[in-house]
Amino acid sequence: MTVVFLSLGSNMGDKLAYLNQAIQALSEIPQTQLVNVSSFYQTVAWGKTDQDDFVNAAVELETNLEALEVLRECQQIEKDLDRVRHEHWGPRTIDIDILLYGKETFNMPDLKVPHPYMTERAFVLVPLAELTENVMIPNTGQTVLEALSRLSHEDVVKI
Ligand code: AMP
Repeated sequence: MTVVFLSLGSNMGDKLAYLNQAIQALSEIPQTQLVNVSSFYQTVAWGKTDQDDFVNAAVELETNLEALEVLRECQQIEKDLDRVRHEHWGPRTIDIDILLYGKETFNMPDLKVPHPYMTERAFVLVPLAELTENVMIPNTGQTVLEALSRLSHEDVVKI
């Protein structure tokens, strides 16, 4: 089994409902167990600031699936939750990113792990640190907590 950490975010419609539906769907992925879910956090939109706040969370899975299979499952859940993509970093019903897949790294067009922006984003690291503070983020030489300590995170507020 491989331990996988995901980041979930929503900034459209009933955000809490979308997150809860995504978590329910993640718990139904074959050959996979949902191990832990962080608190939900309200965060100011990143990249484009003229849009609604996000609600973010992190999820821990244990899986026998390959990383690309986990990605496909997550993309299917995004599709099922009717994600509408109008613009890059624009509103979305649900966004699911693979942050960590065991200690492995991937640098494929479809899959980059660790997620390239994770050490820059407090809204990713604050929920993740709730689940795992001391895991090393491959390629960075930093633990989750060390990466988080370099960021300001007053605008990531527990709901
Ligand atoms: P986004 O707009 O953030 O949902 O990006 C979706 C695209 O990112 C898809 O084409 C994925 O194949 C790609 N991608 C690359 N690395 C990852 C990752 N670690 N988790 C999720 N999607 C990824």
